[in-house]
Amino acid sequence: LIRAENLAVEYGETRVLAGVDLALEPGEIVTIVGPNGSGKSTLVRALIGLETPAEGRVIRAPGLRIGYVPQKLHIDASLPITVRRFLSLPRRVSDAEAAEALAHTGVPGLETRQLARLSGGQFQRVLLARALLMRPQILILDEATQGLDQPGTAAFYRLIEDLRTETGCAVLMVSHDLHVVMSASDRVICLNGHVCCEGTPKVVSEAPEYRALFGLGTGGA
Ligand code: ATP
Ligand code: MG
Repeated sequence: LIRAENLAVEYGETRVLAGVDLALEPGEIVTIVGPNGSGKSTLVRALIGLETPAEGRVIRAPGLRIGYVPQKLHIDASLPITVRRFLSLPRRVSDAEAAEALAHTGVPGLETRQLARLSGGQFQRVLLARALLMRPQILILDEATQGLDQPGTAAFYRLIEDLRTETGCAVLMVSHDLHVVMSASDRVICLNGHVCCEGTPKVVSEAPEYRALFGLGTGGA
């Protein structure tokens, strides 16, 4: 579906990513982990086309539908936009579709609320609803559970799993919830400006590179 080859990204003179190879197949759930500033958001932005590679390339299947939940989305508080309108921004959707997506993400009936007045967790759920309304073949989630309460986080992972089962959608997540994320992933990529290690959650959790990066000491998971 999407592939990065020898990808490097620079901001000005600073290279924040180098030599990244990554491929995402239909139905896969892949998680990117790494410390703050390790280039996780930069990598997903480059995959989507929001950053231009300094080296290497990104190859996407033609017409690929991507649902994207960014890590940060600044909403101008003075901008009068309702949840309903926001959900129609990338793709015009019917009232029924909008209502269904909101119910699906645990925030039914928010349509007429002002986007800028939502709580952090409500906003996060609305972002997810909007991504789902893209009918994505790939869902790219950058710290999408930030601000979600515990039931919300659990529901979130169930939803991802159901989506994959029902639609064969591939999911690329970025997260710090290492334990939860790992159990919900087929494959984990550990990033620190480059790919430190990757593999099944078990392989990565036992890899010395991963454990050193997160200060976990040696030994089992
Ligand atoms: P976090 O866990 O905090 O979200 P991250 O792994 O997503 O971190 P990135 O946001 O990809 O990290 O940032 C990687 C590096 O690039 C950081 O050193 C950051 O300061 C720098 N950076 C990110 N965006 C820009 C930008 N627009 N201009 C200049 N430097 C940037
Ligand atoms: Mg980030």
